Amino acid sequence: MTLGILGGGQLARMLCLDARRMGVQTVVWSGTHEAEPTEGVADLLLKKSFDDCGAQAEFCREVDVVTVEFENIPLETLKSIERQKPLFPSACSIEITQHRSREKEFLKKHEIACAPFAMVNSLADLESAYDQIGPVAVLKTAAFGYDGKGQVKLTHKDQLASAWEAVEGQASVLEGFIDFDCEISVLVARGKDGEVVAFPAAENAHRHHMLDLTIVPARVGQKTLQQAQEVALKLASELDYRGLLAIEFFVEKSGNVLVNEMAPRPHNSGHFTMNGCVTSQFEQQLRAVCGLPLGSPELLTPTVMLNLLGDMWNPHLDTDQIVSTQGAKLHLYGKTDPGVRRKMGHVNFVGEGKLLERAEQLKAQLLGL
Ligand code: AMP
Repeated sequence: MTLGILGGGQLARMLCLDARRMGVQTVVWSGTHEAEPTEGVADLLLKKSFDDCGAQAEFCREVDVVTVEFENIPLETLKSIERQKPLFPSACSIEITQHRSREKEFLKKHEIACAPFAMVNSLADLESAYDQIGPVAVLKTAAFGYDGKGQVKLTHKDQLASAWEAVEGQASVLEGFIDFDCEISVLVARGKDGEVVAFPAAENAHRHHMLDLTIVPARVGQKTLQQAQEVALKLASELDYRGLLAIEFFVEKSGNVLVNEMAPRPHNSGHFTMNGCVTSQFEQQLRAVCGLPLGSPELLTPTVMLNLLGDMWNPHLDTDQIVSTQGAKLHLYGKTDPGVRRKMGHVNFVGEGKLLERAEQLKAQLLGL
């Protein structure tokens, strides 16, 4: 069996490593000339753009089944691949998650709660949307937004014109600002014949709008956990999904959950599964996509995941410090240039004791605080 992967970043790397362990060959089509994380771990790496027809022909010739490691792949490429080889998740599911407005409309249609929102295509739209949704709101570009990119927080009408300029007049969504208690995510896998399993919910804390720490089990009530799982399973079934789906939620003070966004692939907040669960999220993606039975999502140990961003390289990462910390498991992505906000790796803390305290302490040391 040969698995084709679209995208050559760290998520593809970790999928390749699990595939190799399980005897599945991998072909990565990175879409760019840079694919450091998958160098040496993919069986074949095509460093060509997604509109390169020759690369597409070669890719499709080599693979049995195809999946993605990120959603922003040109829709025409996805549809063309889907005509030649099984693609999981489908181009139709990926298309919904490529665009915030399509995603929100999908949630609305299926009566799944999310923050109040309105589509915005002009400054006049923004003004009337702000009248309905303000005074505290977030303007987000509809496409290509992640990790807080393409987002502007609004607290006053005076800020509308400059916010519209900041998003460069691109199609956007205005969302009500949620004064949440915390954020959680649930990863769900749906396999052949609709078999479905969900991983335990993860609690997520951010730094500079990027994921900083994931804590599992999430410190929320039973009702919240159940609601989030029900929504995740409902979404996977309404999408007639195959593969791994990540859903991020805001948990309101009342304990109710609102969907923030979804991703049609493994997710940074699911890295805890690599050392915390019977099956990692990557193995689960592989199983779902290749038509194998799904693995157990059981949590074997409480786990805290700390993201290693480039600002922890001073100018090198103190790996001795990490590996000598009790219960710390280091994962690096093979990137050589540590940009300040670049995701370079992560550490999972597992086992007995105060894992969060240990993670916070290590983070402070690595940041030189
Ligand atoms: P996103 O890229 O939409 O996931 O946003 C990144 C982060 O910004 C989220 O994880 C939240 O911490 C924050 N955020 C985004 N939208 C909202 C909102 N409507 N209300 C409050 N915080 C938000």
